[in-house]
Amino acid sequence: MNRVYNFSAGPACLPLSVLEQAGAEIADYKNSGMSAMELSHRSILFEEIIARTEELLRAAMNIPDNYKVLFLQGGASLQFSGIPMNLLQNDTDKADYIVTGRWSNMAYEEAQRYGDIKLAASSKDRNYCYIPEVNPSIIRPGAKYLHICYNNTVFGTRYKEVPETGGVPLVTDVSSCILSQPFDVTQHALLYASAQKNMGPSGLTVVIVRDDYIGKAKPYTPSYMDFKVQADLESIYNTPPCYSVYVAMRVLEWLRDEIGGVDAMYQINLEKAAILYGYLDESKLFKGTVDREYRSLMNIPFVTGNKALDEKFIAEAEAAGFTTIEGHRQVGGMRASIYNPMPVQGLVELVDFMKKFEMENR
Ligand SMILES: *Cc1c(COP(=O)(O)O)cnc(C)c1O
Repeated sequence: MNRVYNFSAGPACLPLSVLEQAGAEIADYKNSGMSAMELSHRSILFEEIIARTEELLRAAMNIPDNYKVLFLQGGASLQFSGIPMNLLQNDTDKADYIVTGRWSNMAYEEAQRYGDIKLAASSKDRNYCYIPEVNPSIIRPGAKYLHICYNNTVFGTRYKEVPETGGVPLVTDVSSCILSQPFDVTQHALLYASAQKNMGPSGLTVVIVRDDYIGKAKPYTPSYMDFKVQADLESIYNTPPCYSVYVAMRVLEWLRDEIGGVDAMYQINLEKAAILYGYLDESKLFKGTVDREYRSLMNIPFVTGNKALDEKFIAEAEAAGFTTIEGHRQVGGMRASIYNPMPVQGLVELVDFMKKFEMENR
């Protein structure tokens, strides 16, 4: 077997033990004689899978009983519409957005169709290399919610802490940081994430939403996207992404049993990020692209400052088994996405490789 260190921003690497277990039971899940992907979504076995996935997620994130967990499709991108459709009743209802990168900008633009949407702050002036100051004075009184993206996948920044909103409900995109660090769910009205960064394969999107935001969708909201419809039917309004849910269940078991939960994962993630940032700070060839205090633990962009040298590095890294490390075109250079399943050893070997490259190319 030839496994590489996959630094893809998403879909991203998964724990090898999860892949091996999924492989071992690919044709016969729990003596059913069927694959988990062949099970009826109405079968007891699948009902157990989805219930267990929810239970594991609730335990991992300490999700209180007054929050519903929805397993949906359409990615975080569909929730860019789903959230305003469910949270804004009238077209004059207000919601404010902080734009700190590509995804929060898409969320902001998409929301314009559904209400009175305002840009509260942005870090576009410096190509999103920092997180702007967020405090109640920049949020409109009466706003139904403030939308933020906690970790910016493309630009590699994250909030240092959950911002103070002065009582305005907070809606938070945690697609690229869910389960990577502890979150106090009660600080948010709604948290949402697509799975393919930290939770499993693509095809699954998780929405964690407080009870009292459910049941108020705009009349034209498609039934599928109405949080109440999905909550009442326990995410089985129609056929859910069954196999993606199954793999997410295995990832959550891995997180609990092999890692020791989110707090332990966070410590490992701090350690992993420190290995690469530590080197970037001392290197004379490579440098990070974002302001230090807002550095992401999950996505680390870096450049040499020389396009040809970046390309040479990417090609040599690929050949050495460090794949998908090219940066997003909006930043250029390289980006190492080091989600939960990326082992510490992956960072150690990447930095060794970068040191060698620096020696050879100075
Ligand atoms: C990947 C990502 C998205 C989009 O997810 P899709 O599943 O492609 O819709 C949204 N927000 C953030 C922060 C992301 O990292």
